[in-house]
Amino acid sequence: MKIFIEVALPINIKDTFTYSCPKNLSPQIGQRVIVDFNYRIQTGIIIGMPEKPAYDEDKIKEIHEIIDAKPLINKELLAFAEWISKYYHCPIGLVFKAMLPAGINVNTIQKIVLKKSETKDKDFLKIIKFIEKNGNSCAIEDLKQSKISPLYKNLLEMEEQGLIEIERHYKRKVQKKVVNCIRLLTDSCEDNLTPKQQELKQFLQTQSEPIFMADISKEFSYSIINKLKEKNLIEIYKREIHPDIFSDIVRHEPLTFELTDEQTEVLGKLEARIDEQTFHAFLLHGVTSSGKTEVYIRAMKKALSHGKTAIILIPEISLTPQTVERFYSHFGDIIAVLHSKLSDRERLHYWNLLKKGEKKIAIGPRSALFAPLENLGLIIVDEEHENTYKQHERPPLYNARDMAVLRAKMNNAVVLLGTATPYLESYFNTQHKKYSLLKMTKRVKNQILPKLIVVDMREEEDHTEIFSKLLRDKIEDRLIKKEQILLFQNRRGYASYVQCVKCGHVLQCKDCNISMTYHSRNKKIKCHYCGYERSMPRKCPECGGYIFNFGSPGTEKIEQNLQFLFPTARIARMDSDTTTKKNSFQNVFDQVRNGYIDILLGTQMIIKGLDFPNITLVGIVSADVNLNLPDFRASERNFQHIIQVAGRAGRSEKEGEVIVQTYNPKHYSIQYAQKQNFIGFYEHELHLRNELHYPPFTKLVRILFLLNNEERLRSYMEGIRYKIAQYPQKDKLIILSPTPAPISKIRKQYRYHILIKAEHQPNINRFIEWFRGNVKIPNYIKMQIDIDPISLL
Ligand code: ADP
Ligand code: ZN
Repeated sequence: MKIFIEVALPINIKDTFTYSCPKNLSPQIGQRVIVDFNYRIQTGIIIGMPEKPAYDEDKIKEIHEIIDAKPLINKELLAFAEWISKYYHCPIGLVFKAMLPAGINVNTIQKIVLKKSETKDKDFLKIIKFIEKNGNSCAIEDLKQSKISPLYKNLLEMEEQGLIEIERHYKRKVQKKVVNCIRLLTDSCEDNLTPKQQELKQFLQTQSEPIFMADISKEFSYSIINKLKEKNLIEIYKREIHPDIFSDIVRHEPLTFELTDEQTEVLGKLEARIDEQTFHAFLLHGVTSSGKTEVYIRAMKKALSHGKTAIILIPEISLTPQTVERFYSHFGDIIAVLHSKLSDRERLHYWNLLKKGEKKIAIGPRSALFAPLENLGLIIVDEEHENTYKQHERPPLYNARDMAVLRAKMNNAVVLLGTATPYLESYFNTQHKKYSLLKMTKRVKNQILPKLIVVDMREEEDHTEIFSKLLRDKIEDRLIKKEQILLFQNRRGYASYVQCVKCGHVLQCKDCNISMTYHSRNKKIKCHYCGYERSMPRKCPECGGYIFNFGSPGTEKIEQNLQFLFPTARIARMDSDTTTKKNSFQNVFDQVRNGYIDILLGTQMIIKGLDFPNITLVGIVSADVNLNLPDFRASERNFQHIIQVAGRAGRSEKEGEVIVQTYNPKHYSIQYAQKQNFIGFYEHELHLRNELHYPPFTKLVRILFLLNNEERLRSYMEGIRYKIAQYPQKDKLIILSPTPAPISKIRKQYRYHILIKAEHQPNINRFIEWFRGNVKIPNYIKMQIDIDPISLL
């Protein structure tokens, strides 16, 4: 009897493929296998073992090898992956790919050995000649020079006919790192040593292991080391070294406080559920600096006390050294911190330690949700309103916040979402009893929340000025008082667009339908979507005009203007143009903390997790940047930004002030933010969402279609419009006909989308299944299904 296995491959076609297994192997679900797929080598994961395959047994291919001795994916993660795959309509192999660290992959090295050379096939003969020339065996890479195609297909047929044998070797992508170390073998007082040799020996006596050769050889030459070796005084041995991302972390004693009344109450409710060890979802709505992180730490300790493990998700940007140190001081060696700066080797190392149970807590952004921890007791999602929890680049387009709730549910664990500005849907869920609401309304040290002053920029005397008179005066005032200022503008570069005054032409990216941003430092215009840049033209490419109008200011222009207005102020700018180097973040933070900076200016980057007591003034340069986007979440995002930025002010005894500059002072997101009134905003926004049939009242899906030929894409979309009209259950859905997406072209790809709204998830699933079965998508068109999309641009 043959053994059949269902294998998930990391390709965007369908869920699983059936293979058979050689008799000498005993496959288990969750193990990785190496298979041929479409004439290429692929690594897949076994997710099932059907007794009888669904189609012709003779056509089923054998796998080459099983890689893992034990299953790599345990039952829990497998079930989790299956769920994600179904919910997001994404092949499960791609879900695994998102779950696993890239460093775990294997590379296949294939060597072709000639066995027989009698054949009539011309291509085969060519290949045989080539191998013979190479001494009857060669690597598959060398054969690629022979220009025979399809090469792998031919080779597989030749292998079948016994003409050749393909030897396959597998190499881990991340190799073990082994270094030479040196140790003293004996303390005997060998007197026959030169002074330098004696010195080395004495040095070794004072050291504790391990001593790396690389370090020693800086001080002592190889000949001295060799001499001692010849005399059998020392030994050189190999040692595997592991990455240690905590090596340069500042270790300090954990700060402990008496909890505030609100913290005590919230923690009590959490602990009760953690003790019960059953699923429960909480939303902690705690104002900025109300001590949420402290609550997280105590809750994690509670979960650990039951022998459980925990995951804490943090937006990448908040993963500053200060945050890591804070957790490290409490949990020390049992935490694994995962972030995007880790190398493949480091990530794999920590993944393995989590899997072995040597680390009990995983901290990291989005993908840390997939930490292979057993026995999960608690999942925390900090700043749960953040968009970065949504994967928007490649499938699965999952949202880690939502999936955190799911994973907790599947594990009978507690999940805690925390924020000062709840995501609308999360708050909605507390009102519909899906989550329990926890509240912290006061700042820990009883500091009052800062006062917000809205400035109507339409009433300023000089409309060309970036700063209102009020904001200039306040900056001046703080500079005199030696207090610090934080200025926020959610736009980098110099000016948002460049427009010819004579003909009105706006300079656009050649590959995207996006206006280019002017960067004054190198006099270039850049596309913020694809990165394309070119020098600023001297003349308008359309009419030859020389005079340009520059759009609204970005951080670069604001910095210049500040420097002009306040020539003696020390200004630091933080945006993705200035923080490309690894430690640039940290350096600026340190400078602000130590008082070397008077004004910190930046984009989104500066609004999270900063806790600087001397910042007493926050300026929001234009509180309308978000509002002009054609996106139903624009107001929500605007509200969140204002509250979060404002939260950076007045974090000590000194009271904070926030100046909000806007051309839309009556906009409800600004009005409610001014009063720090979340509930008011929530109710207003909810009402609009209901009227326009947007989430949380409907489930939203966007199907995006991409092609580099506009005409062809448009006519294809016409066909789709016609097809969709035939969907039999139209009354259960609102389907918005295909239209060009607001950004109609990115990276040479034209973009069309369909939006679908439904009251219930099953209706969505039914539609997508119907769509897949009835609408033919030619393979030159790229289609992306986005369930619960965050952006509709
Ligand atoms: P949040 O996460 O809500 O912004 P944090 O937990 O970071 O708030 O707390 C803000 C500041 O207050 C931190 O410096 C923290 O160390 C401190 N803190 C937290 N809880 C207490 C407490 N009960 N008493 C005194 N200080 C506290
Ligand atoms: Zn572009």
